[in-house]
Amino acid sequence: MEKQNILRNIPKVDELLNHPALLALDLPAGNIRAAVREELETLRGQVLSGALDVLPDKASIAAAAGERAKREALPSLRPVINGTGVVLHTNLGRACLSRRAVEAVAAVAGGYSTLEYDVEQGCRGSRHGHIEELLTQATGAEAAMAVNNNAAAVLLILSAIGKGGEVAASRGEMVEIGGSFRIPDIMTQCGCALREVGTTNKTHLYDYENAIGPETKALLRVHTSNYRIVGFSERPALAELVELGHKHGLPVIEDLGSGSLADLNAFGIHDEPTVQQSVKAGVDLISFSGDKLLGGPQAGLILGKKAYIGQLKRHPLARAVRVDKMTIAALRETLYAYLDPARAREEIPVLSMLGEPPHMLHSKAALLCQRLMGQGCAARVVETESQVGGGSCPAQALPSWAVAVDPGKLTVDGLETALRRRERPIIGRISQGQYLLDVRTLWDEDFADIETAVKEVLQ
Ligand SMILES: *Cc1c(COP(=O)(O)O)cnc(C)c1O
Repeated sequence: MEKQNILRNIPKVDELLNHPALLALDLPAGNIRAAVREELETLRGQVLSGALDVLPDKASIAAAAGERAKREALPSLRPVINGTGVVLHTNLGRACLSRRAVEAVAAVAGGYSTLEYDVEQGCRGSRHGHIEELLTQATGAEAAMAVNNNAAAVLLILSAIGKGGEVAASRGEMVEIGGSFRIPDIMTQCGCALREVGTTNKTHLYDYENAIGPETKALLRVHTSNYRIVGFSERPALAELVELGHKHGLPVIEDLGSGSLADLNAFGIHDEPTVQQSVKAGVDLISFSGDKLLGGPQAGLILGKKAYIGQLKRHPLARAVRVDKMTIAALRETLYAYLDPARAREEIPVLSMLGEPPHMLHSKAALLCQRLMGQGCAARVVETESQVGGGSCPAQALPSWAVAVDPGKLTVDGLETALRRRERPIIGRISQGQYLLDVRTLWDEDFADIETAVKEVLQ
């Protein structure tokens, strides 16, 4: 009886919707109405279960509904602070674009553009034209094009070149990238038969040669970007494979995966081949990702001989995997930076993060640590290791510095959760019982947010 009385006093939806706290919200009406309904439903549930025997006043209910509406209005795709030290974190969006690339995207996104329009001639232009010359200039390749991602690039290449025949590939390179992208399965999908050659650890040139027959359409090389076979292992040099292919009139295709245009040796990364090396070796078609070591947008870049690239551009699948204007804008700026290697290292976040010297990272960590201590938090600067990520350079740990944040009255897991569930989530790493923020992947602008968040979470 008592409960029925309380329930009857719960305000009506429309009554609450007219409350100033909710009228002031700049959110879609449907969003607010749904939040009010849910808030009232929650109250009803609490009354029925006996958890609530005095109703909050109308202003408090309206305020709670407002908070709920704001929470629900947050897009699920939103910026985070990456304190993991993983530079190419696939779950956190891989490469961060350069400032110029971001501006270029914004410039074309909201209006009309020359996407497929030749302003000189006043007629239809080519979507590929915006980046082809930059790619060929940067790599020495004859021709180039971009598609939606590298998986699409491999799909297009194998469909155009291998369909109805056999493609020979080493057993040591049967790569799975994740998300069901596996070389053998992709081959099936493209209508070509995989001809496995060699063994897991050793594949010789003669293994390829013995496999070549009337059905053979191409030789495929796959960069084992996310694992390494070490020890008693061998595979032919790329140039040898190219020579063999050409002797038999067969194209050689290479899925380079990460595809770096920059020499990463200066960053202490020694086992990552460059795109230029593959072009120089004479590979007929090379593909790689735009958002891995290149440091650009999600894209698949394809380089190679003019005749083959032409064949790909005309293939029906090319339309299905084509890139949009925003991707092209970002790619153009990213590739443009590579015309000057020093500029690329400075402007492209992936390169500047990978190339940040340890003493600079130490100063950055010391600064963040000081700021957190200024908020009454116990923090320490600790040595750590960052990862390249994105399935690139798996054997390579980069010496780095992090701030270990003391969880205070929380547990380490509790601290991690609280920071992760914020409007702008902070993603850290727990290592050996410590909560770490690796400063390699933090922007200076993140510091203020981290400071506020840590203060609020620990108080
Ligand atoms: C990452 C990768 C791919 C897939 O590239 P996406 O751009 O993520 O589609 C394909 N092959 C190799 C070897 C890779 O490393």
